[in-house]
Amino acid sequence: MAGSSSASDALFATACKRMPGGVSSPVRAFGSVGGTPRYMARGMGAQIWDEDGNAYTDYCLAWGPLILGHAHPAVLEAVTKTARDGLAFGTCHRMEVALAELVLEAFAPAERVRFLVTGTEAVMTALRLARAHTKRRLILKFSGCYHGHSDGMLVKAGSGVATLGIGDSEGVSAAQAAETIVVPLGSQSGIEEAFARYGTEIAAVILEPLPANNGLLLQDPAWLQALQKLARASGALLICDEVITGFRFGFHGYARMVGLAPDLTTLGKVLGGGLPVSAVLGRAEILDRLAPAGKTYQAGTMSGNPVALAAGIATLTELRTGEPYHRMEGLGARLEAKLRGEGAFAFVRVGSVFWPYFGKRAPTRAEDVSELAVQEFQARYHRWLDRGIYLSPSAWEVGFLSSMHQESQVDALAEALLEPRR
Ligand code: PLP
Repeated sequence: MAGSSSASDALFATACKRMPGGVSSPVRAFGSVGGTPRYMARGMGAQIWDEDGNAYTDYCLAWGPLILGHAHPAVLEAVTKTARDGLAFGTCHRMEVALAELVLEAFAPAERVRFLVTGTEAVMTALRLARAHTKRRLILKFSGCYHGHSDGMLVKAGSGVATLGIGDSEGVSAAQAAETIVVPLGSQSGIEEAFARYGTEIAAVILEPLPANNGLLLQDPAWLQALQKLARASGALLICDEVITGFRFGFHGYARMVGLAPDLTTLGKVLGGGLPVSAVLGRAEILDRLAPAGKTYQAGTMSGNPVALAAGIATLTELRTGEPYHRMEGLGARLEAKLRGEGAFAFVRVGSVFWPYFGKRAPTRAEDVSELAVQEFQARYHRWLDRGIYLSPSAWEVGFLSSMHQESQVDALAEALLEPRR
Protein backbone atom coordinates (compact mmCIF):
# COMPACT_ATOMS: atom_id res chain seq x y z
CA MET A 1 0.00 0.00 0.00
CA ALA A 2 1.25 3.44 -0.88
CA GLY A 3 1.68 5.65 2.13
CA SER A 4 4.91 5.12 4.02
CA SER A 5 7.59 7.19 2.40
CA SER A 6 10.78 6.99 4.43
CA ALA A 7 13.15 7.16 1.44
CA SER A 8 11.28 10.22 0.16
CA ASP A 9 11.45 11.82 3.60
CA ALA A 10 15.22 11.31 3.79
CA LEU A 11 15.85 12.56 0.25
CA PHE A 12 13.68 15.63 0.77
CA ALA A 13 15.40 16.46 4.06
CA THR A 14 18.77 16.50 2.26
CA ALA A 15 17.35 18.31 -0.78
CA CYS A 16 16.01 21.09 1.44
CA LYS A 17 19.54 21.75 2.66
CA ARG A 18 20.96 21.89 -0.86
CA MET A 19 18.24 23.23 -3.13
CA PRO A 20 15.80 26.15 -2.61
CA GLY A 21 12.66 24.59 -1.17
CA GLY A 22 14.20 21.21 -1.95
CA VAL A 23 12.91 21.19 -5.53
CA SER A 24 13.64 22.06 -9.15
CA SER A 25 10.17 23.58 -9.72
CA PRO A 26 7.86 25.01 -7.01
CA VAL A 27 4.64 22.93 -7.06
CA ARG A 28 6.64 19.73 -6.67
CA ALA A 29 7.32 20.68 -3.03
CA PHE A 30 3.76 19.64 -1.98
CA GLY A 31 3.37 23.11 -0.43
CA SER A 32 -0.31 23.25 -1.24
CA VAL A 33 -1.21 19.75 0.02
CA GLY A 34 1.27 19.41 2.87
CA GLY A 35 3.53 16.48 3.68
CA THR A 36 6.63 15.27 1.90
CA PRO A 37 6.83 15.03 -1.88
CA ARG A 38 7.15 11.51 -3.17
CA TYR A 39 10.42 10.80 -4.96
CA MET A 40 9.55 8.82 -8.04
CA ALA A 41 11.96 6.13 -9.16
CA ARG A 42 10.32 4.40 -12.11
CA GLY A 43 7.37 4.54 -14.49
CA MET A 44 5.75 2.09 -16.86
CA GLY A 45 2.52 2.76 -18.74
CA ALA A 46 0.19 4.57 -16.35
CA GLN A 47 2.00 3.31 -13.25
CA ILE A 48 4.79 4.94 -11.25
CA TRP A 49 6.78 3.70 -8.28
CA ASP A 50 8.39 5.82 -5.61
CA GLU A 51 11.76 5.26 -3.94
CA ASP A 52 10.10 3.08 -1.30
CA GLY A 53 8.53 0.85 -3.93
CA ASN A 54 4.99 2.21 -3.44
CA ALA A 55 2.98 2.05 -6.68
CA TYR A 56 0.65 4.76 -7.93
CA THR A 57 -1.55 5.26 -10.96
CA ASP A 58 -0.23 8.47 -12.45
CA TYR A 59 -2.64 11.26 -13.42
CA CYS A 60 0.06 13.94 -13.40
CA LEU A 61 2.07 12.35 -16.22
CA ALA A 62 4.94 14.80 -15.91
CA TRP A 63 2.36 17.65 -16.01
CA GLY A 64 0.99 16.60 -19.40
CA PRO A 65 3.70 15.44 -21.81
CA LEU A 66 3.30 11.67 -21.33
CA ILE A 67 0.19 11.21 -23.43
CA LEU A 68 1.31 7.66 -24.32
CA GLY A 69 2.21 6.86 -20.71
CA HIS A 70 5.64 6.11 -19.27
CA ALA A 71 8.27 4.23 -21.23
CA HIS A 72 6.16 3.69 -24.33
CA PRO A 73 8.03 1.10 -26.44
CA ALA A 74 8.01 3.14 -29.67
CA VAL A 75 9.27 6.26 -27.87
CA LEU A 76 11.96 4.36 -25.96
CA GLU A 77 13.12 2.65 -29.13
CA ALA A 78 13.41 5.98 -30.99
CA VAL A 79 15.24 7.66 -28.12
CA THR A 80 17.77 4.88 -27.54
CA LYS A 81 18.43 4.37 -31.24
CA THR A 82 19.05 8.09 -31.71
CA ALA A 83 21.16 8.40 -28.56
CA ARG A 84 23.47 5.63 -29.72
CA ASP A 85 24.44 7.85 -32.65
CA GLY A 86 25.24 10.81 -30.42
CA LEU A 87 23.41 12.90 -27.83
CA ALA A 88 23.87 16.31 -29.38
CA PHE A 89 25.60 17.98 -32.29
CA GLY A 90 24.52 21.60 -32.22
CA THR A 91 24.26 21.29 -35.98
CA CYS A 92 21.41 20.83 -38.38
CA HIS A 93 19.84 17.38 -38.03
CA ARG A 94 17.35 15.35 -40.09
CA MET A 95 15.04 15.04 -37.06
CA GLU A 96 14.29 18.78 -37.23
CA VAL A 97 12.97 18.42 -40.74
CA ALA A 98 10.89 15.36 -39.85
CA LEU A 99 9.28 17.01 -36.80
CA ALA A 100 8.67 20.26 -38.69
CA GLU A 101 6.74 18.34 -41.35
CA LEU A 102 4.55 16.66 -38.72
CA VAL A 103 3.86 19.86 -36.79
CA LEU A 104 3.00 21.93 -39.84
CA GLU A 105 0.73 19.19 -41.17
CA ALA A 106 -1.18 19.25 -37.88
CA PHE A 107 -1.27 23.04 -37.56
CA ALA A 108 -2.00 24.08 -41.14
CA PRO A 109 -2.08 26.83 -42.35
CA ALA A 110 1.01 27.61 -40.21
CA GLU A 111 3.97 27.73 -42.57
CA ARG A 112 7.02 27.87 -40.34
CA VAL A 113 8.07 26.42 -37.01
CA ARG A 114 11.00 27.13 -34.72
CA PHE A 115 11.95 24.50 -32.14
CA LEU A 116 13.03 25.51 -28.66
CA VAL A 117 13.33 23.72 -25.34
CA THR A 118 10.70 24.97 -22.87
CA GLY A 119 7.22 26.43 -23.07
CA THR A 120 8.51 29.54 -21.33
CA GLU A 121 10.98 30.11 -24.16
CA ALA A 122 8.37 29.50 -26.85
CA VAL A 123 6.13 32.15 -25.29
CA MET A 124 9.02 34.62 -24.91
CA THR A 125 9.81 34.20 -28.58
CA ALA A 126 6.18 34.54 -29.66
CA LEU A 127 5.88 37.80 -27.72
CA ARG A 128 9.13 39.14 -29.17
CA LEU A 129 7.94 38.27 -32.66
CA ALA A 130 4.58 39.95 -32.07
CA ARG A 131 6.29 43.13 -30.90
CA ALA A 132 8.66 43.05 -33.86
CA HIS A 133 5.86 42.45 -36.34
CA THR A 134 3.43 45.08 -35.06
CA LYS A 135 6.00 47.60 -33.80
CA ARG A 136 3.86 47.84 -30.68
CA ARG A 137 4.65 47.35 -27.01
CA LEU A 138 1.77 46.02 -24.92
CA ILE A 139 0.62 42.45 -24.39
CA LEU A 140 -2.89 41.55 -23.26
CA LYS A 141 -3.23 38.43 -21.11
CA PHE A 142 -5.90 36.90 -18.90
CA SER A 143 -5.84 36.31 -15.17
CA GLY A 144 -5.54 32.60 -14.45
CA CYS A 145 -3.71 31.81 -17.68
CA TYR A 146 -0.12 30.68 -17.17
CA HIS A 147 2.42 31.26 -19.90
CA GLY A 148 5.68 30.29 -18.23
CA HIS A 149 7.93 32.34 -16.02
CA SER A 150 9.25 35.14 -18.23
CA ASP A 151 9.08 38.55 -16.51
CA GLY A 152 6.22 40.09 -18.46
CA MET A 153 4.02 37.02 -17.95
CA LEU A 154 4.45 36.95 -14.16
CA VAL A 155 1.93 39.66 -13.53
CA LYS A 156 -1.40 39.86 -11.82
CA ALA A 157 -4.23 42.26 -12.50
CA GLY A 158 -4.32 45.61 -10.76
CA SER A 159 -7.75 46.81 -9.66
CA GLY A 160 -10.40 47.26 -12.35
CA VAL A 161 -11.57 45.20 -15.31
CA ALA A 162 -8.73 45.78 -17.76
CA THR A 163 -5.62 46.95 -15.96
CA LEU A 164 -1.92 47.25 -16.48
CA GLY A 165 -0.22 44.44 -14.61
CA ILE A 166 1.69 44.60 -11.38
CA GLY A 167 4.55 42.24 -10.64
CA ASP A 168 3.43 38.91 -9.20
CA SER A 169 6.97 37.88 -8.31
CA GLU A 170 9.90 39.63 -6.73
CA GLY A 171 12.41 40.62 -9.36
CA VAL A 172 9.88 41.67 -11.99
CA SER A 173 10.33 45.38 -12.55
CA ALA A 174 7.35 47.71 -12.53
CA ALA A 175 8.25 48.72 -16.09
CA GLN A 176 8.10 45.13 -17.35
CA ALA A 177 4.84 44.41 -15.55
CA ALA A 178 3.30 47.59 -16.92
CA GLU A 179 3.71 46.31 -20.46
CA THR A 180 1.14 43.61 -19.74
CA ILE A 181 -2.59 44.32 -19.55
CA VAL A 182 -4.54 41.80 -17.49
CA VAL A 183 -8.23 41.05 -18.04
CA PRO A 184 -10.48 38.44 -16.35
CA LEU A 185 -11.31 35.42 -18.53
CA GLY A 186 -14.66 35.55 -20.30
CA SER A 187 -15.14 39.27 -19.69
CA GLN A 188 -16.65 40.98 -22.75
CA SER A 189 -16.50 44.39 -21.08
CA GLY A 190 -12.89 43.69 -20.07
CA ILE A 191 -11.67 43.04 -23.58
CA GLU A 192 -13.72 45.89 -25.04
CA GLU A 193 -12.34 48.29 -22.46
CA ALA A 194 -8.78 47.08 -23.00
CA PHE A 195 -8.96 47.60 -26.75
CA ALA A 196 -10.76 50.92 -26.39
CA ARG A 197 -8.04 52.23 -24.05
CA TYR A 198 -4.90 50.63 -25.41
CA GLY A 199 -5.91 49.24 -28.82
CA THR A 200 -3.31 51.03 -30.90
CA GLU A 201 -0.52 49.90 -28.54
CA ILE A 202 -1.41 46.23 -28.16
CA ALA A 203 1.06 43.99 -30.00
CA ALA A 204 -0.61 40.72 -29.08
CA VAL A 205 -3.30 39.00 -27.11
CA ILE A 206 -2.05 35.78 -25.55
CA LEU A 207 -4.27 33.13 -24.03
CA GLU A 208 -4.67 29.48 -23.31
CA PRO A 209 -7.74 28.81 -25.47
CA LEU A 210 -8.63 26.16 -22.88
CA PRO A 211 -7.19 27.59 -19.67
CA ALA A 212 -5.79 24.62 -17.74
CA ASN A 213 -3.44 26.14 -15.18
CA ASN A 214 -5.97 27.40 -12.67
CA GLY A 215 -8.26 24.43 -12.82
CA LEU A 216 -9.93 23.77 -16.15
CA LEU A 217 -11.74 27.00 -17.00
CA LEU A 218 -13.99 26.33 -20.00
CA GLN A 219 -14.51 29.41 -22.17
CA ASP A 220 -17.49 30.19 -24.39
CA PRO A 221 -16.36 29.85 -28.04
CA ALA A 222 -18.44 32.95 -28.87
CA TRP A 223 -16.35 34.99 -26.42
CA LEU A 224 -13.12 33.55 -27.79
CA GLN A 225 -14.19 34.49 -31.31
CA ALA A 226 -15.20 37.99 -30.18
CA LEU A 227 -11.72 38.37 -28.72
CA GLN A 228 -10.15 37.29 -32.00
CA LYS A 229 -12.30 39.80 -33.86
CA LEU A 230 -11.29 42.65 -31.56
CA ALA A 231 -7.62 41.71 -31.89
CA ARG A 232 -7.85 41.60 -35.68
CA ALA A 233 -9.70 44.91 -35.86
CA SER A 234 -7.02 46.62 -33.78
CA GLY A 235 -4.07 45.10 -35.63
CA ALA A 236 -2.91 42.99 -32.66
CA LEU A 237 -1.75 39.41 -33.17
CA LEU A 238 -3.55 36.50 -31.52
CA ILE A 239 -1.23 34.03 -29.78
CA CYS A 240 -2.75 30.74 -28.70
CA ASP A 241 -0.59 29.16 -26.02
CA GLU A 242 -1.21 25.47 -26.62
CA VAL A 243 1.65 24.17 -24.48
CA ILE A 244 -0.86 21.96 -22.64
CA THR A 245 -3.57 21.57 -25.29
CA GLY A 246 -1.50 21.11 -28.47
CA PHE A 247 -1.90 17.49 -29.71
CA ARG A 248 -3.87 16.70 -26.54
CA PHE A 249 -7.34 16.24 -28.06
CA GLY A 250 -6.48 15.27 -31.61
CA PHE A 251 -3.73 15.74 -34.17
CA HIS A 252 -4.20 19.51 -33.96
CA GLY A 253 -4.64 22.25 -31.39
CA TYR A 254 -7.62 23.27 -29.29
CA ALA A 255 -7.92 26.58 -31.16
CA ARG A 256 -9.34 24.83 -34.18
CA MET A 257 -11.97 23.14 -32.01
CA VAL A 258 -13.37 26.52 -30.95
CA GLY A 259 -13.11 28.34 -34.28
CA LEU A 260 -9.92 30.31 -33.62
CA ALA A 261 -7.25 30.95 -36.24
CA PRO A 262 -4.28 32.28 -34.24
CA ASP A 263 -1.44 34.24 -35.82
CA LEU A 264 1.05 32.42 -33.60
CA THR A 265 0.84 29.16 -31.65
CA THR A 266 3.13 27.93 -28.90
CA LEU A 267 3.58 24.22 -28.21
CA GLY A 268 5.47 22.16 -25.63
CA LYS A 269 4.75 19.17 -23.39
CA VAL A 270 3.17 16.49 -25.70
CA LEU A 271 5.34 17.78 -28.57
CA GLY A 272 8.44 16.32 -26.89
CA GLY A 273 6.77 13.14 -25.63
CA GLY A 274 8.52 13.50 -22.25
CA LEU A 275 11.75 15.17 -23.38
CA PRO A 276 12.19 18.94 -23.60
CA VAL A 277 10.91 20.27 -26.92
CA SER A 278 8.79 23.36 -27.50
CA ALA A 279 7.87 25.32 -30.60
CA VAL A 280 6.52 28.57 -31.92
CA LEU A 281 4.75 28.47 -35.26
CA GLY A 282 2.73 30.62 -37.61
CA ARG A 283 2.73 32.35 -40.97
CA ALA A 284 6.00 32.77 -42.85
CA GLU A 285 5.73 36.58 -42.87
CA ILE A 286 5.87 36.54 -39.05
CA LEU A 287 8.19 33.57 -38.36
CA ASP A 288 10.70 34.65 -40.98
CA ARG A 289 11.46 37.63 -38.79
CA LEU A 290 13.48 35.22 -36.65
CA ALA A 291 17.25 35.27 -37.06
CA PRO A 292 18.95 34.35 -39.31
CA ALA A 293 16.07 34.89 -41.79
CA GLY A 294 15.19 38.16 -40.07
CA LYS A 295 16.28 40.51 -37.32
CA THR A 296 14.41 39.14 -34.30
CA TYR A 297 16.94 37.25 -32.23
CA GLN A 298 16.42 33.85 -30.69
CA ALA A 299 18.87 30.96 -30.29
CA GLY A 300 19.54 27.88 -28.16
CA THR A 301 22.39 25.42 -27.57
CA MET A 302 19.90 22.63 -26.90
CA SER A 303 17.26 23.69 -29.45
CA GLY A 304 16.39 20.88 -31.84
CA ASN A 305 18.30 18.29 -29.80
CA PRO A 306 18.08 15.05 -31.81
CA VAL A 307 17.25 12.74 -28.89
CA ALA A 308 14.46 15.02 -27.70
CA LEU A 309 13.11 15.42 -31.22
CA ALA A 310 13.18 11.65 -31.68
CA ALA A 311 10.86 11.29 -28.67
CA GLY A 312 8.57 13.92 -30.18
CA ILE A 313 8.49 12.31 -33.61
CA ALA A 314 7.77 8.85 -32.17
CA THR A 315 4.99 10.29 -30.00
CA LEU A 316 3.36 12.25 -32.82
CA THR A 317 3.63 9.27 -35.16
CA GLU A 318 1.58 7.20 -32.70
CA LEU A 319 -0.90 10.04 -32.17
CA ARG A 320 -1.36 10.57 -35.89
CA THR A 321 -3.09 7.18 -36.16
CA GLY A 322 -5.90 8.65 -34.06
CA GLU A 323 -6.10 5.47 -31.97
CA PRO A 324 -4.70 6.95 -28.72
CA TYR A 325 -7.27 9.78 -28.85
CA HIS A 326 -10.07 7.30 -29.35
CA ARG A 327 -8.90 5.28 -26.37
CA MET A 328 -8.48 8.32 -24.10
CA GLU A 329 -11.91 9.69 -25.00
CA GLY A 330 -13.42 6.32 -24.04
CA LEU A 331 -11.62 6.40 -20.69
CA GLY A 332 -12.55 10.00 -20.05
CA ALA A 333 -16.21 9.38 -20.86
CA ARG A 334 -16.21 6.36 -18.54
CA LEU A 335 -14.78 8.43 -15.69
CA GLU A 336 -17.23 11.22 -16.30
CA ALA A 337 -20.22 8.85 -16.42
CA LYS A 338 -19.26 7.50 -12.98
CA LEU A 339 -18.89 10.95 -11.49
CA ARG A 340 -21.50 13.13 -13.12
CA GLY A 341 -24.00 14.35 -10.55
CA GLU A 342 -22.36 12.26 -7.82
CA GLY A 343 -20.29 13.28 -4.85
CA ALA A 344 -19.40 16.65 -3.45
CA PHE A 345 -17.86 18.12 -6.56
CA ALA A 346 -18.31 19.34 -10.08
CA PHE A 347 -16.34 17.30 -12.59
CA VAL A 348 -14.97 19.20 -15.58
CA ARG A 349 -13.56 17.22 -18.50
CA VAL A 350 -12.40 17.83 -22.04
CA GLY A 351 -11.12 14.62 -23.64
CA SER A 352 -8.24 13.33 -21.54
CA VAL A 353 -7.96 16.43 -19.30
CA PHE A 354 -10.07 16.63 -16.17
CA TRP A 355 -10.54 18.71 -13.06
CA PRO A 356 -12.42 17.62 -9.95
CA TYR A 357 -13.68 20.85 -8.42
CA PHE A 358 -14.94 20.45 -4.87
CA GLY A 359 -17.66 23.04 -5.14
CA LYS A 360 -21.20 23.07 -6.52
CA ARG A 361 -20.59 24.78 -9.84
CA ALA A 362 -17.35 24.71 -11.78
CA PRO A 363 -16.02 28.25 -12.25
CA THR A 364 -14.88 29.64 -15.60
CA ARG A 365 -12.75 32.48 -14.20
CA ALA A 366 -9.73 32.22 -11.92
CA GLU A 367 -11.31 34.77 -9.56
CA ASP A 368 -14.21 32.40 -8.87
CA VAL A 369 -12.23 29.37 -7.64
CA SER A 370 -13.36 29.13 -4.03
CA GLU A 371 -10.98 28.73 -1.12
CA LEU A 372 -13.36 26.15 0.33
CA ALA A 373 -13.05 23.98 -2.79
CA VAL A 374 -9.28 24.16 -2.51
CA GLN A 375 -9.44 23.07 1.14
CA GLU A 376 -11.70 20.13 0.25
CA PHE A 377 -9.09 18.96 -2.28
CA GLN A 378 -6.27 19.36 0.21
CA ALA A 379 -8.18 17.44 2.88
CA ARG A 380 -8.47 14.42 0.58
CA TYR A 381 -5.13 14.46 -1.20
CA HIS A 382 -3.14 12.19 1.11
CA ARG A 383 -5.95 9.62 1.22
CA TRP A 384 -5.68 9.39 -2.58
CA LEU A 385 -1.94 8.88 -2.29
CA ASP A 386 -2.54 6.13 0.27
CA ARG A 387 -4.88 4.45 -2.23
CA GLY A 388 -2.15 4.55 -4.86
CA ILE A 389 -3.49 7.46 -6.87
CA TYR A 390 -1.07 10.21 -7.87
CA LEU A 391 -2.79 13.44 -8.85
CA SER A 392 -0.78 16.64 -9.26
CA PRO A 393 -0.29 18.02 -5.74
CA SER A 394 -2.45 21.12 -6.04
CA ALA A 395 -6.17 21.86 -6.32
CA TRP A 396 -5.44 24.20 -9.22
CA GLU A 397 -3.84 21.56 -11.39
CA VAL A 398 -5.73 19.44 -13.90
CA GLY A 399 -5.42 15.66 -14.21
CA PHE A 400 -4.37 13.88 -17.38
CA LEU A 401 -5.24 10.49 -18.82
CA SER A 402 -2.87 8.63 -21.10
CA SER A 403 -3.61 6.03 -23.75
CA MET A 404 -2.09 3.46 -21.36
CA HIS A 405 -4.56 3.88 -18.50
CA GLN A 406 -6.84 0.91 -17.95
CA GLU A 407 -10.57 0.92 -17.28
CA SER A 408 -9.97 -0.59 -13.81
CA GLN A 409 -7.60 2.27 -12.92
CA VAL A 410 -10.09 4.88 -14.00
CA ASP A 411 -12.79 3.13 -11.96
CA ALA A 412 -10.51 3.22 -8.92
CA LEU A 413 -9.97 6.94 -9.45
CA ALA A 414 -13.74 7.53 -9.58
CA GLU A 415 -14.19 5.57 -6.37
CA ALA A 416 -11.44 7.53 -4.62
CA LEU A 417 -12.81 10.89 -5.73
CA LEU A 418 -16.28 9.92 -4.51
CA GLU A 419 -15.06 8.90 -1.07
CA PRO A 420 -16.33 11.43 1.45
CA ARG A 421 -13.89 13.59 3.38
CA ARG A 422 -13.04 12.17 6.79
N1 PLP B 1 2.31 27.80 -21.27
C1 PLP B 1 1.43 26.97 -20.70
C2 PLP B 1 0.01 26.99 -21.14
C3 PLP B 1 1.86 26.07 -19.73
O1 PLP B 1 0.97 25.25 -19.16
C4 PLP B 1 3.21 26.06 -19.36
C5 PLP B 1 3.71 25.13 -18.31
O2 PLP B 1 2.99 24.47 -17.64
C6 PLP B 1 4.09 26.95 -19.99
C7 PLP B 1 3.61 27.81 -20.94
C8 PLP B 1 5.55 26.95 -19.63
O3 PLP B 1 6.14 25.80 -20.06
P1 PLP B 1 7.53 25.28 -19.40
O4 PLP B 1 7.20 24.84 -18.03
O5 PLP B 1 7.96 24.17 -20.31
O6 PLP B 1 8.46 26.44 -19.44
